[in-house]
Formats: sequence, C-alpha cells, structure tokens
Amino acid sequence: MTQQTSNHYIAKEDKFGAHNYHPIPVVLAKGLGIYVWDVEGKKYFDFLSAYSAVNQGHCHPKITSALTEQAQTLALTSRAFYNNKLGDWEEYMTKLFGYDRMLPMNSGAEADETALKLIRKWAYKVKGIADNEARIIVCDGNFHGRTITIVSMSSDPDSYGGYGPFTPGFVRIPYNDIPALEEALAQPNVAGFLVEPIQAEAGVFVPDEGYLKKAAELCKKHNVLFAADEVQTGLARTGKLLACDHEQVRPDILILGKALSGGVYPVSCVLADDEIMLTIKPGEHGSTYGGNPIAATVAMAALDVIVDEKLAENATRIGEIFRREMSAVKSEIIDLVRGKGLLNAIAVKPKDGKTAWDVCLRLKENGLIAKPTHEHIIRFTPPLIITEPEMMEAIEIIKSTFREFE
Ligand code: PLP
Repeated sequence: MTQQTSNHYIAKEDKFGAHNYHPIPVVLAKGLGIYVWDVEGKKYFDFLSAYSAVNQGHCHPKITSALTEQAQTLALTSRAFYNNKLGDWEEYMTKLFGYDRMLPMNSGAEADETALKLIRKWAYKVKGIADNEARIIVCDGNFHGRTITIVSMSSDPDSYGGYGPFTPGFVRIPYNDIPALEEALAQPNVAGFLVEPIQAEAGVFVPDEGYLKKAAELCKKHNVLFAADEVQTGLARTGKLLACDHEQVRPDILILGKALSGGVYPVSCVLADDEIMLTIKPGEHGSTYGGNPIAATVAMAALDVIVDEKLAENATRIGEIFRREMSAVKSEIIDLVRGKGLLNAIAVKPKDGKTAWDVCLRLKENGLIAKPTHEHIIRFTPPLIITEPEMMEAIEIIKSTFREFE
C-alpha cells in the first residue's frame, strides 16, 4: 500500500469527521516513549502526552504487553458476571490510594458523573437532605468533561453554549477563593464540593498553597463531601501520586482517569469509603465496559510503572528545570511561566497578531508538539519518563521558537 501524505489524512478527517476539534496540523503514525513520528517520518517531542494520559510514555512495553495478553485471553464480560481481574484491580487501587472501595468507569467524564451521583445519593441517604434539593459547589473555570450535566457546571461558553436546558443543582464560585467557599457552604442543602487541585484545562491555574487543605477542612466542618477531580492532575503528573498529596489532603471522593491506563485504553474510576460508595445499590449505576478485564489488567500495569519508575520524583525534578529555564527567558511574547511538577504552562502575550496557536505551529516545525489551551496559554506536559538531557534539548527548541517571534 502506498504511504499517504499528512494532507491526505487531514483532508479525510475534514471531509468525513465532525468538526468538534481543531487539531494542530500534524498526522501522527507512531509513538515510543517521549517521541511521536508523523506519517512522513518526522520525529517530535510530545509535549502534550494526550492531555496527560500518556504519563508513562507512548507504548510502554509493560503496559502494551498487559493489554495484548489480556486481549487474547478475555476482553469483556460485562458486569452481569464476575471476571477474574476486577477484584485484583479493586484491591490494588484501594490499597494504593487508601479507600474502602472503587467504582470503575471508562472516561474521565463518566467518572466525574459517577462522583456527582455519589454525592447526591449520599446527600439523600446519609446527610438527610430532602429529595431533589441537593446542591453541589463547583468552581469558575472548571473542566470536568463534556456531558450535558458536566457542561451545566461550566463557566466556559465554548463548553456549554447551545446545549441547554442545563442540569440544575450546581452553585459556582470563584476558584482559589476560601471566603467564597465559606459563604457557599453556609447555604442550605449543600452536599459536595467538586474541585480540580490545579485547573489544567483552564490554563494550569495553581491555587495558593493551603487552599485545598483549608477547603477540605471547611467541607468537613459543614458535613459536605470534598471531591477531587484528579483526572489530569493525578498519577504523578504534578510530582506526587496525587496533587492533593502536596497538602496531605485526603478527598472524600477521588476521581481518576487518563494515565490510569498509560494511554492505551480508556479507563477511569472513583474511589470512596463505604458510607459513600455503598449508597449506590445494584442496578443504580454502571457501564458495559467499566471494570472489564483488559481495563483492570492494563490499569495495574500502568500504576506499577508509575510507582516502579518513580515518575512522581522525576516529574518534580524535571519540572523544576523546565520552570527555572523558561522563567529566565526574556521574551516580549512570554507573559509568565507557571505549573507544578510536569504540568506547566506558558502564557503568551499576543504580538503582531501572533497568538499561542502560531507559536505551536512553529514548535511543530521545530520538532516539538504542544497545544494551546484558550487563546494565549500553551501547556507543556511531556511524558513523565523524560530525562534531564532530553528536557534540555526540548527547552532549546522552545527557547529558539520563542526567539523567532521577537
Ligand atoms: N476532568 C478533568 C480534570 C479533565 O482534565 C478531563 C479531560 O481533559 C476530564 C475530566 C474529562 O476526561 P475525558 O476526556 O476522559 O472524559
């Protein structure tokens, strides 16, 4: 078969696919570790890592062999029956993260939906809020996925515009604002507070030190569940297994996804203790694929890699190098550099009509792929296996690309 060019694949997606994404014009055909290759064979540093799903690096051999072996043995049973992998995975997760129970799903959005359902069930069955009156506090700038209920919580018109009528029952407050949280918690019928430890999609907004701890304490005081969406911040990305670990906060509900499979399979889950998790009874929630044997096997392999290869420690060390080097750059187009571990962003000052998008196009030409989030922010999130010399090489590409805009 003749090898087609990038333009061929781009034209095909453009003609036959929905236009719900605006990709950087590069067509990837292969990935290994921190690198990806396009269909013409050009190699790139991957500084998106599929929105932090590929923390372990592309096609990690331990994860791909877990996937292929299990795929050839037993792939899917549905939860109508038991399978011989799910219990092992549940035990693994509850021991690693310190919760009584786990509920498996597939995507991050489904895990967030599951958390919202758990908060509401708990509100009615345990806290004693009157039926249909429970309220959940969320933050401006949040990103929890794309379902109707989740976009009902969003403050971003791109996310919610044109999708009403919206699910009621949410109260939105400013992020990183303890007085606003205190005021919202004082209102009646509040059941939960759903928060991202760092707002990644919004542009890598790192809250003030102590915010999560104080928020969790206030929730406890008001008998309100503290639910942490660690779909993007979790699993070593910020330099700890969980971003909440930076402040020794243990969420009542922990939501995980993305890197839970190392990027080879959609796997997500929610962790909580009995009082919360057992409010959902048989038949009241589920997913055909959730907890299937491939997901279970892959997730255990993916977590083994994070722990065995000390990816959290590496993220801390290499992330500091990135911020140190990039903060030292004097550029008219760089506004600021921020982040934690290897979840970092550079805010770009538009110049001569050039935006973060134009910078990403030049980065691609120079051998590094990244994606803007909103108009002026570029997220830099390489796989966590990146070494210091590799990061220094990537930083040189980023620096010289910014120089092209001077
Ligand atoms: N929650 C957070 C914090 C996310 O960053 C994302 C995706 O970027 C999601 C949830 C949704 O995950 P998914 O795209 O797997 O539904």
